[in-house]
Amino acid sequence: MNSKPEALKIARRGLLLVLSSPSGAGKTTLSRRLLESDAAITMSVSVTTREPREGEEDGKDYHFISHDRFTAMRQQGELLESAEVFGNGYGTPRKPVEAWLENGRDVLFDIDWQGTQQIHAKMREDLVRVFILPPSAEELRERLIKRAQDSAAVVAKRMAEASNEISHWAEYDYVLINDDIDRCERDLEHILEAERMKRQRRVGLEDFVSGLRAKL
Ligand code: 5GP
Repeated sequence: MNSKPEALKIARRGLLLVLSSPSGAGKTTLSRRLLESDAAITMSVSVTTREPREGEEDGKDYHFISHDRFTAMRQQGELLESAEVFGNGYGTPRKPVEAWLENGRDVLFDIDWQGTQQIHAKMREDLVRVFILPPSAEELRERLIKRAQDSAAVVAKRMAEASNEISHWAEYDYVLINDDIDRCERDLEHILEAERMKRQRRVGLEDFVSGLRAKL
């Protein structure tokens, strides 16, 4: 066999990987690729009050819910974080995230800067924040138009919102410029690999070292 030998298995705590970017910077493609290539990470499916776009599936892309249900979930503390984006409510169901973390699974979030700030306030030790920038304004506009899922008015609105979203770039641990989706994906995999190795996350290290020292 010429593959890398399996590293000694040390139990570790899961991490929360947040990807934020303005719409159209390639975040959805990157998330999809990462989920396909890495079996240890699970996507957090948000709730939203916005209408489904063509091809979007309830329960897979989002849980599409009413404004009333969103308000109730918020009030009952069922959301780990929530925000208004483009006039719609978005939020992360709390329970699945807590269960995954306890089971040592990593969780991927496609949420905006507001949600990222809220998770940072509550669970900063577990959080890894990645911001994705488009290579240029022209490229962003083209991607939004090509996507053609939204009306021209929505595209214009999202371009205006992009500047606001980007203004939060410095609140993130890593910033990737998506001029090449393959390279960006590799960079993201490297970030994840290194973050998983962090001493604080490798909760099994203490026992391993104790066992090691007992025999020295
Ligand atoms: P879209 O409507 O294009 O799917 O998403 C619009 C924006 O809402 C994106 O920036 C996306 O990251 C953000 N978003 C999606 N789900 C959530 C969520 O659960 N919480 C927060 N805070 N933002 C979200």
